[in-house]
Amino acid sequence: MIRYAKPTTVDEALALLGEGAWRILAGGTDFYPAQGTKPFRDNVLDINGLAALRGIAETDDHFVIGARTTWTDVIRHPLPPAFDALKQAAREVGSPQIQNVASVAGNLCNASPAADGVPGLLVLDADVELRSVTATRHLLVSDFILGNRRTALQPGEMVTAIRVPKPSGTSAFVKLGARRYLVISIAMVAARLLVENGVVADAAVAVGSCSAVAKRLAGVETALRGLPVDDRLAAAAQSAPMSELSPIADVRGSAEYRLDAVREIVARVVLQASGQTSDHGMVAA
Ligand SMILES: Cc1cc2nc3c(=O)[nH]c(=O)nc-3n(C[C@H](O)[C@H](O)[C@H](O)COP(=O)(O)OP(=O)(O)OC[C@H]3O[C@@H](n4cnc5c(N)ncnc54)[C@H](O)[C@@H]3O)c2cc1C
Repeated sequence: MIRYAKPTTVDEALALLGEGAWRILAGGTDFYPAQGTKPFRDNVLDINGLAALRGIAETDDHFVIGARTTWTDVIRHPLPPAFDALKQAAREVGSPQIQNVASVAGNLCNASPAADGVPGLLVLDADVELRSVTATRHLLVSDFILGNRRTALQPGEMVTAIRVPKPSGTSAFVKLGARRYLVISIAMVAARLLVENGVVADAAVAVGSCSAVAKRLAGVETALRGLPVDDRLAAAAQSAPMSELSPIADVRGSAEYRLDAVREIVARVVLQASGQTSDHGMVAA
């Protein structure tokens, strides 16, 4: 017999996870489309009763995004400018109806190459808190998402939070889609820059939808560090190596188009993060 449980405490949820195999249900916006009309064969652990996992808390050195925090919660919560990329990504996840129920953690656990939340979390050096009845561990987002629809989540574990080390700098995010709203990304880019005395002291740039897992672009980050904040930033970003990317061709765009588009978007996002433009989302030509 299949079980359905909706615990109200994290301890109760972890105890259930320790007893057998469950599929976790958060906002259901990936869960139900994946299920389609197939009959349920797995136990369902509904985490919507875990009020303790909803919202964003602050410790001395981290912002802690509870696993049941929605994209709307992220948009509404006062956060430093380094989170602007994540907030912009939040506004691009589906539509407001989706953002009101869908969780940040669900976006990570679903591990789609086109998950809009991932680049913004990568540039924040975020990690994922995984708990089981016996242990708690933390994995960087880049170590948590292993491939297309594959994560490091072990049986008996659930994601309880996403932790962001208190970040500095300013950030921006641009998503390229075939239309402006309710669209799966062709490519998306997040960038966070730390500018000191008019010079880029540190840079973090990440791209999604152009590899099985969203990637930080080390070559671009190196090219930007030490540059003065002026229009040379865009040229440096655009011509830097992007060897991490290996886009596929699909109905949304060819591999060559994605690579061309990404160079342009990286340049625009870097300018935006440095405060030089105020562009937002892009629509494919
Ligand atoms: C119409 C529509 C439009 C969409 N548009 C976009 C878009 O533009 N961009 C985008 O990135 N996504 C989009 N999505 C996908 C989806 O909304 C997001 O990925 C969302 O953040 C998923 O969160 P959720 O809470 O609904 O997860 P769920 O659907 O509940 O769960 C997703 C997966 O994560 C697992 N899971 C959830 N929480 C946990 C946890 N705490 N611990 C362990 N495993 C967990 C579930 O078992 C499941 O496998 C769209 C979906 C729909 C239906």
